[in-house]
Amino acid sequence: MRSHLLNGLTAEHYRRSVSEGVERVAEKLVAVERPFTGVAVDELAPRIDAVDLDRPLGDTAAVLDELEEVYLKDAVYFHHPRYLAHLNCPVVIPAVLGEAVLSAVNSSLDTWDQSAGGTLIERKLIDWTAGRIGLGPAADGVFTSGGSQSNLQALLLAREEAKSHDPARLRVLASEIGHFSVQKSAKLLGLGEDAVVTVPVDRDKRMRTVALARELERCRGEGLVPMAVVATAGTTDFGSIDPLPEIAGLCERYGVWLHVDAAYGCGLLASRKYRHRIDGIERADSVTVDYHKSFFQPVSSSAVLVRDGATLRHATYHADYLNPRRMVRERIPNQVDKSLQTTRRFDALKLWLTLRTMGADGIGELFDEVCDLAVSGWRLLAADPRFHVVVEPSLSTLVFRFVPAAVTDPAEIDRANLHARKALFDSGEAVVAGTKVGGRHYLKFTLLNPETTPADIAAVLELIAGHAEQYLGESLDRAS
Ligand SMILES: *Cc1c(COP(=O)(O)O)cnc(C)c1O
Repeated sequence: MRSHLLNGLTAEHYRRSVSEGVERVAEKLVAVERPFTGVAVDELAPRIDAVDLDRPLGDTAAVLDELEEVYLKDAVYFHHPRYLAHLNCPVVIPAVLGEAVLSAVNSSLDTWDQSAGGTLIERKLIDWTAGRIGLGPAADGVFTSGGSQSNLQALLLAREEAKSHDPARLRVLASEIGHFSVQKSAKLLGLGEDAVVTVPVDRDKRMRTVALARELERCRGEGLVPMAVVATAGTTDFGSIDPLPEIAGLCERYGVWLHVDAAYGCGLLASRKYRHRIDGIERADSVTVDYHKSFFQPVSSSAVLVRDGATLRHATYHADYLNPRRMVRERIPNQVDKSLQTTRRFDALKLWLTLRTMGADGIGELFDEVCDLAVSGWRLLAADPRFHVVVEPSLSTLVFRFVPAAVTDPAEIDRANLHARKALFDSGEAVVAGTKVGGRHYLKFTLLNPETTPADIAAVLELIAGHAEQYLGESLDRAS
C-alpha cells in the first residue's frame, strides 16, 4: 500500500496516475456534446449504490473506468457553451495546473511553518487585489472558501467594531435582493431575527439610496445601531450593481461600516473596459471577491479584503501549539491569525499562475466578452415579442420569461416556464437557471463562458419556446 503514498519513491506512479486522469478528462472535454446527459437521479443512484467501498479496485485504470460510470459520463459540464445556468465559469488552464500542484505539495496556509512561500504568495495576491480595488495602504485580507464565508467574516469584523452597543440593537442593511448569506451570517453572529433590514431596489434592481437613507434615519430615530450596510456589486440574480458612490456617501455620513459584496462583479477589477462600473468600491471597509466566479478559477477561490488590516484582529486567537502570541513579536507571518479557517488550502496558487501566465488583462478580456455577449442576448430578447426580459445587463446575466400572446393567465405562464426549464435540463441540450421576479417564475442565463455565441443564445431560446409551447398545447388538450 506504500506505493500509493506520494513521495520520492512513488514519483513515477504519481506521474502515470495523474496523467491517466488528465487524459480521461481531456478526452471528455473533446467528446462532450451537451452540457448534461439528462440522467435521472433514479438512474444514477443505483450505479453509485452498487459500488462496494470495502472492496477497492486497486489499479488506476479500473478506478477511472468506474469513475466514468458513476461521475464523468453524466457530470454537468460548465465548459460547454450551452451551460448557461448558475454562477459557474469554465476554468483557465493555468489555474487547473495550480490545482494539481497545490494538492500534491499540500501546503496548509494556516502557518508559516506549513507553507513558507505559499504564505507570501497569498499575501502578495491580497495586496494586488486590494490595490486593484483601491483600498489604501493599510488594507489587508485573506483567502476564504467562498463568498458566503467572506461575507460572514466581513460582518463579524463589523459586529466587533460595533461591540460597544447592545447586540439586540444592531442592524445590517442590505438590498432586498442581496445574497442570502447575509441573513445566514446574521444568524451565525447571534444577531436577532430582524437584524437584517432589507432595502428596496429600483427598476434596474439597484438598491434605492433614498430608501437606504430613510432606513438609516429610522434606525437612528428608534435607537437602533446600523453596524453595516451591504452593497452588492453584481447581484446574484440580475448582475445589477448597487450605486456604490451614493451608498459610500451615506455610510460616511452615518458612520456605518460599508461592506461591498463583489462576489460576482469582482471580474471588473481586471477589466480595462468596464472597471468604471464598480467605481466607489474603493470606499468600502470590506469587500468580498469570488475569483471562482468571474476570474475563471476552479472552486474554491475567494477572498475578503479590508481597508484597515488591524480589524482582522477580531478573527485572531492564539493557540500554544500553532500560533502563539510570541510569533507576532517575532514577526512570523501566520495567516491563521486573519482567518476563520485553520487548515486551509493554498487556493491562491491558482490565481498566481493565472496572472503569471495570462496577466490581469487576459482575465479582464474574457470577462468583458461575456458582458458583451449579455448585451447581444438582451437585444435578442428585447426584439422578440415571445419573451419579456427584466433588466438591461450590468454584468453577464439575463432574466426573462416566455410570454406567448395567446395566454393571459400568469399562473399558466409560470407553469410553462417551469416546464421549459425542466424539459431542457432533462434533454441535456442546455442548462438554464430560474428565479422569481414580482412573485412570478422567470428563467435566467448567467453567461460566463466566452465560447458561448449569440447563436447559442438564440438556439436555446428556441428550445425554451418549443418546450413551453408544447406544454401549453398539451395543457389546452387537457382542458378540452
Ligand atoms: C455567489 C455569491 C455569494 C456566495 O458565494 P459562494 O462562493 O457561493 O459562497 C455571495 N454573494 C453574491 C452576490 C454571490 O453572487
